[in-house]
Amino acid sequence: MHGDEPQSADVAAMLIEDLATQDHPQLVIVSHLNPDGLARGTRKNGRGVDLNRNFPTANWAASDLGDPYHGGDQPGSEVETQLLLDLYARYAPSRILAIHCIDGGRHCINYDGPAQQLAKTMSTLNGYAVSADIGYPTPGSMGTWAGRERSIPTITLEMPDDRPAVDCWADHREALLTFVNHEE
Ligand SMILES: [Zn+2]
Repeated sequence: MHGDEPQSADVAAMLIEDLATQDHPQLVIVSHLNPDGLARGTRKNGRGVDLNRNFPTANWAASDLGDPYHGGDQPGSEVETQLLLDLYARYAPSRILAIHCIDGGRHCINYDGPAQQLAKTMSTLNGYAVSADIGYPTPGSMGTWAGRERSIPTITLEMPDDRPAVDCWADHREALLTFVNHEE
């Protein structure tokens, strides 16, 4: 989702590879949602939009293109956001996981909607703190759209942005597989 958090895409790709040899429930993984941002090393997509502020939520906020968290000209304006919305409509997921990176030792398992127990279970496997509030406003975020407004259990794994992907994968493999195989 954020191109300057490349370990997220790498870990998602490693999860796909790992799951290829296992039985698991149906799941859909978008490992590289923001390829333009990833190629440029930018948070935003190629049109200067922060995809995690572009969801059509009640609290979506208009802002200037120069805003580092610019959420688009209008809610759901970006093809990347539309892809996720199409996938959610098509598959009606029972739970959603987003993988991000964060700076300054603020790594955590954030959740939106009815996902506290799942977040706590994952936390026993990776040792991360569970947080219901990331600590700053996130208007137009996927967690708000899915978790808060539609009550789809939504987990946001925030990994340290200075940790190599292979180490992130080792840190979180068990927690990620637990998310995948979780039964309601
Ligand atoms: Zn992010």
